[in-house]
Amino acid sequence: MTEKFDILIIGGGINGAGIARDAAGRNLKVCLVEKNKVGSATSSWSTKLIHGGLRYLENYEFRLVRESLKEREIIKKIANDIISPIPFIIPHFPQQRPKWLIQLGLFIYDHLGGKSSLPKSKRINIKKEIPNVLKNEFKIGFQYFDLQVDDKKLVELNINDAKKRGALIIENNKVINVKRNIDHWTITLNDKTTLNAKILINASGPWINNVLNNIINLNSKKSIRLVKGSHIITEKLYTQNKAFTLQNTDNRIVFVIPYKEKYSLIGTTEKEVYSPDNPTIDNEEIDYLINTVNKFFIRQISSDEIVETYAGIRPLIEDFNEASKITRDYIFDLNISDSNTPLLNIYGGKLTTYRKLSENVLHSLGPFLPKTKLSSWTGSKKL
Ligand SMILES: Cc1cc2nc3c(=O)[nH]c(=O)nc-3n(C[C@H](O)[C@H](O)[C@H](O)COP(=O)(O)OP(=O)(O)OC[C@H]3O[C@@H](n4cnc5c(N)ncnc54)[C@H](O)[C@@H]3O)c2cc1C
Repeated sequence: MTEKFDILIIGGGINGAGIARDAAGRNLKVCLVEKNKVGSATSSWSTKLIHGGLRYLENYEFRLVRESLKEREIIKKIANDIISPIPFIIPHFPQQRPKWLIQLGLFIYDHLGGKSSLPKSKRINIKKEIPNVLKNEFKIGFQYFDLQVDDKKLVELNINDAKKRGALIIENNKVINVKRNIDHWTITLNDKTTLNAKILINASGPWINNVLNNIINLNSKKSIRLVKGSHIITEKLYTQNKAFTLQNTDNRIVFVIPYKEKYSLIGTTEKEVYSPDNPTIDNEEIDYLINTVNKFFIRQISSDEIVETYAGIRPLIEDFNEASKITRDYIFDLNISDSNTPLLNIYGGKLTTYRKLSENVLHSLGPFLPKTKLSSWTGSKKL
């Protein structure tokens, strides 16, 4: 008789990895299947920030920002080997959001998540604090702090801990078929392996509706919009260990962040696409990022200076807003047409909120796992 897992997770991005860790730590029998290497998709194509999401305040996403700020503090403790605090400078100029609005936003950002170990935001004199970087017209700015993270490493640390706690992690093998039986799911992989599990979790990120419609063979109840975000990497544009939050005239922001000692990471864009597969940057996005940098920096760059690019796809929950305003929050779609075989689909989410998302997944599955300990544990155990 084949072993029966309590939970089988499709997808080894940050969300799948976080759920596997949390569940394995509750002594559940967990299996995670990833079609490539763990952390090789969206979770390694991010802007690599653990952040509250200052700009989401403008869309009144207080719940998301509060949770993200609280998580920022927790991740700073549990993953301190792979994160570093970094100051972000918002250069101010008259045509953009008024100073009072930025100051109000930063005040809320400093306090909404409760106690924080990061320095509070402040107004700065750009000429004095970061001379010879920005054009002369940028005299005043604001500084706030967030965390930089090695995103892929964060996935790997969660996976390693899940393994240590007994989870089976299968890489380079795709879930190709799923059958709902009376009291369990049968999951077939690319190499014909079959696995049985009581609960199925679809954590396949931007592939979520492909997996749901074509592999699990159920109709998706939630619509998503696939929004590509691209980055360019250039040789370091300046020496100071500070990042910039550049506000564009289209009301979007572009980050310029010191990256791996020698480089600057510049991103990101928002462009709607129709397939989650093989995202790449296009010329329009390259021009957009370069033009934004050139609007602010003394040093002017061109596409010749790009040493690398990458792009990822955000699976955003459709709320009929323009791409930059669609919520970055996550939601669960629990399918319990037969309570012996629950299916949980995970829509949306940020790198920053993966731990809380995982904890919420376990709590929402509590009724189907009566003997499982319910108390949260991942926030106090180092990765
Ligand atoms: C451009 C960009 C910038 C971002 N920047 C940030 C940031 O700075 N901070 C932040 O907090 N968040 C950021 N995010 C959001 C964050 O990256 C994502 O929310 C997060 O990585 C999503 O993780 P995931 O596990 O849901 O998806 P993924 O990482 O995509 O994982 C899903 C996995 O499922 C696998 N899979 C799919 N189908 C199958 C199958 N049939 N069988 C087996 N495996 C399968 C895929 O191979 C993939 O590895 C950014 C996102 C983008 C796109």
